[in-house]
Amino acid sequence: MMDLAMLHEVLNFFYPPHCAACGAGLPIETRKSICGGCLARIERLSDPLCAVCGEPMSAAGNISLCSRCHGGTRNFRMARSAARYDPSREFEPGTLGAIIRHHKYGRDQSLARALLECVGDNLPYRSGDHDLVIPVPLHRQRLRWRGFNQAALLGIDIARRLDCEFDLTAMMRGRATPPQTAHDHNARRRNVRNAFRVAHPRRVAGRRVLLIDDVMTTGATADECAGVLRQAGARVVDVFTLARAR
Ligand SMILES: [Zn+2]
Ligand SMILES: [Zn+2]
Repeated sequence: MMDLAMLHEVLNFFYPPHCAACGAGLPIETRKSICGGCLARIERLSDPLCAVCGEPMSAAGNISLCSRCHGGTRNFRMARSAARYDPSREFEPGTLGAIIRHHKYGRDQSLARALLECVGDNLPYRSGDHDLVIPVPLHRQRLRWRGFNQAALLGIDIARRLDCEFDLTAMMRGRATPPQTAHDHNARRRNVRNAFRVAHPRRVAGRRVLLIDDVMTTGATADECAGVLRQAGARVVDVFTLARAR
């Protein structure tokens, strides 16, 4: 009889594992998707952060809110991310951006595991903080093309870690939106306006929701989703994304 660990090694022998970020070979007995070097280079977010959206702030000032959160009102209570990444370095092997780009535009579901390894122990929420984990939904067409929703894959794992209910279908994407390519927050907000709806308001009413996405840039998508969840009666909406773009 071959146990699972042995089977794993045999598969790795025939299909040698490679780092999802830099492509370097990994030891055949590994269960990791990213090499130690790439993992160590991932930039973690550290204080001071905007108290609401988690944007890194300069240490010099004594301000606790970024300019976007200061002026307006966010629909979410707080947003946090595990790591920081620079979208302009997406084509540089060995960066978190490289994994995210492969993951976003490819159809390789196994990269989800690499992304979870990037989260590591950097989950800023604790078990008991929320009642429900909801991923930012993909539009049907995109889902059909890619075959999976990367936010949902992250969400399933996070819900399991936080011992929290996971709900894939409470919120839907009613309208396909072009990819968020604009840099300007207001343009990004317009792009996702009315794109989401809560299909099952009873499942979110009165509950504390943790919304999951892979990347947060200005927070426009997260804010739009949080808005519809709040309208459907969610008591509070917090956000977690794997990466924070700068
Ligand atoms: Zn690597
Ligand atoms: Zn902020």
